[in-house]
Formats: sequence, C-alpha cells, structure tokens
Amino acid sequence: MASIMMAMAETAKTFIHYNDQYMIHLILFGPPGAGKGTQAITLVEEFKFKHLSTGDLLRAEIADKTALGLEAKKFIDAGELVPDATVIGMIKSLLERLESVKGIIYDGFPRTVAQAEALDKMLASRQESISGLLSLEVPHDELVKRLLIRGESSGRTDDADISTIENRISVYSEKTQPLIDFYTKQGKYHPIEGIGSIEDISGRLISAVKTL
Ligand code: AMP
Repeated sequence: MASIMMAMAETAKTFIHYNDQYMIHLILFGPPGAGKGTQAITLVEEFKFKHLSTGDLLRAEIADKTALGLEAKKFIDAGELVPDATVIGMIKSLLERLESVKGIIYDGFPRTVAQAEALDKMLASRQESISGLLSLEVPHDELVKRLLIRGESSGRTDDADISTIENRISVYSEKTQPLIDFYTKQGKYHPIEGIGSIEDISGRLISAVKTL
C-alpha cells in the first residue's frame, strides 16, 4: 500500500512539474563565482526553461549605452548592487511580456529580501509562486580563485581586481545571504554542493529539480 501511495505521489509530482498549466519558477542561487551562469545553461538545455539573468540584462543595457545601463555601470564596476527599484522594474516588465514558457530560471535575482518580496508579489498576481531555490555552496577561497581566473578572459570590469571581487562577496554575505532564511521559512531552500566537476554539479542540480 505504502509503495502504491509513493508511486502516486511521484506521478503527481511529475504531473505538476511538466504540466504546461504550472509554470516552474526556479532560483539558481549562490555567491559570485559559484557557477550560476554555467549551470543555468545546462538546466536550460535539460528542461527547456527560460534563463533570466539580471547581470546579463544589465550588461546588455550597458553595451547599448541606455540611461539605465549608464546608471547601473557605476554600481557594477564598484561591486555594489544596482538599486532594487531598477532590477525589480526590469523583471516586472519581462514577466509582463513573457511568451509561453514551461519555466524560468532566475540567475542573480533576487539578491535582496526586498527583491524576493517583490517577486513573490508579482508571481502571486499571476497565481504562481517560486518552486524552489537551488543554492550552490562554494567556499570563499574557491570563489576568489574562480573569479580571478574568469577575469583573465571575461572582460568583466567587476572580475578585474581582487578588491572588487572581495567587495562583491561581502555584499553577497550582507545583503543576499539572508534570502536563505527567507526561502527556508517557505520550505524552498535546497543546498547543492558546488564543488567538483561541472558535470557532477549539473547532475546534482538536475536531480534536485526533479524532486521539486
Ligand atoms: P552577475 O552577472 O549576476 O554576477 O551580476 C553582475 C553585477 O550586476 C552585480 O555585481 C550587481 O552589481 C549587478 N546585479 C545583477 N543582478 C542584480 C540584482 N538582482 N540586484 C542588484 N544588482 C544586480
């Protein structure tokens, strides 16, 4: 009997997960250098979700020299966060214009409790909600090492020097890490070991998504 119940529960999960009616909203979380961008690409291939990276969106605004981009550049170059109202506005307008997708992977958003609250509100108005927060856990020294290596080829101003990198990591600890508590209270926090080969980490993430 128990195994029938378990099988039914499993089927229900799969149904919810893949049914077009239910849109998945997945947050790929972690400090700078945790591998969010790299892993988002694999998750997009695997699940055909839409990748939504606020960092990429902001860099595109900078490249296009828009007013928003010019304003955001000051914060990004200093390793600080762009004001909440700016990024919340960007996500809001994207959600309003969203074509039909099975799910969204948020990469680099939300980064503050105010952003998480705003996202919850936006989704609630669509009768939707966050499915889970997958948090890549990587020790501090490994983050710095990865970012310095990435800085050699990324051309990103905020990867270029150690003090900006250290500032980004401390901004993460102060303003972004509290989100772990925020989503733990909602029963949505899933820690994932972010050390090892890219394939191993992808495997852990894919398994975690399948349990949501
Ligand atoms: P990322 O590509 O996610 O590492 O983001 C690069 C930079 O863009 C960050 O260091 C911030 O300055 C800015 N940024 C990206 N996403 C956000 C966000 N959700 N809130 C505030 N600033 C952001």
